[in-house]
Amino acid sequence: RIVHVDLGSKSYDIEIERGLLSHVGGKIKTLLPKAEKIAIITDSHVGPLYASLLQASLEKEAVAVTVLTFPAGEESKNLQTLGYLYDGLAEAGLTRSDAVVALGGGVTGDMGGLAAATFLRGIAFVQIPTSLLATVDSSVGGKVAIDLPSGKNLVGAFYQPKAVFIDPDLLKTLPARYLHDGLAEVIKYGCIIDKELFMRLEKIQNDAELLAHADEIIETCCNIKARIVEHDEFDTGERMLLNFGHTLGHAVEKTFRFDKYSHGEGVGIGMVLLTRRSEKLGLTESGTADRIAALLQRFRLPAAVDMQQEDFLQAIALDKKKRGSRLTLILLKKIGESFLQRVEFSELTQYLP
Ligand code: NAD
Ligand code: ZN
Repeated sequence: RIVHVDLGSKSYDIEIERGLLSHVGGKIKTLLPKAEKIAIITDSHVGPLYASLLQASLEKEAVAVTVLTFPAGEESKNLQTLGYLYDGLAEAGLTRSDAVVALGGGVTGDMGGLAAATFLRGIAFVQIPTSLLATVDSSVGGKVAIDLPSGKNLVGAFYQPKAVFIDPDLLKTLPARYLHDGLAEVIKYGCIIDKELFMRLEKIQNDAELLAHADEIIETCCNIKARIVEHDEFDTGERMLLNFGHTLGHAVEKTFRFDKYSHGEGVGIGMVLLTRRSEKLGLTESGTADRIAALLQRFRLPAAVDMQQEDFLQAIALDKKKRGSRLTLILLKKIGESFLQRVEFSELTQYLP
């Protein structure tokens, strides 16, 4: 399965195949024939599971491999770890014809991508995403970043990879909570643009079935995100549809400690709460919110939260300071159809629970 991302001279393919990791070295070498040294960037969970297989596959192509491993988790997505990566790349003696391969979840892809975008003013970058979220969302679209103490993803770039290689078998070791976390974004794609995907998800009963269908689900999601990114690479219009559920979701994530609600859990709650309100306002087909909630709950994702309107207002107001007085909400007309709604901050309460 191949998804082509058409961005002119920055175009690339996303290849999805079970078992791909064991022979991906040959594909990378074909793609980047001049690369003699490759740095694998990975985290402390994914590295021990998969880095040696990738390393062996690259070494078969006579590539010199350096593995740079950082402690797993969002807490590592910072300047300090980025500095460690730069030092590692320099020590390994990578030149401008060499490459970085990010092997891991969204944290690894975002930070590995930023390292590749900036080291020597940019060297080739390949993504091998290993979490569901990374395969369907963060590895597509070229946004790379790290966090600052004052906020998430505040330092970054748009930097497209040369290729993305996805081996859905790697998801078998992903902890269930992260599988569900990524599934919230999959459900989001169904909600905003693909009714057929949403209905396919409604037929899936459990995690085993989800993993069995992972190839086609990932392909569908990559296609959706690729088409949106092709139209709006720099996130000034249509790409905002991808933020469905995120304004309220971020508020949930912020109000509680990070480990109480994950990103996907927040997004799930945000999708349901916003859609309930927009149903009341007559903007959304009735019954839509219940359908989203039922699908989330099948995968142990919460569909409600113990938060008052003031809590939402406060969290969103803090966020808004960084972005101005209006905000854009994404609303559903019905499952599979969404639109942008510009809202003055003063009108926001209508859309809050
Ligand atoms: P993550 O990279 O921290 O991975 C989640 C956890 O799963 C980690 O502990 C990781 O070690 C582990 N893991 C990953 N793959 C595994 C596997 N196959 N087997 C076992 N363990 C595995 O986080 P994430 O949820 O993948 O991504 C979240 C990050 O992605 C956030 O930093 C977010 O900002 C970013 N993101 C970026 C974009 C973008 O467009 N660039 C979009 C969405 C999210
Ligand atoms: Zn998200």
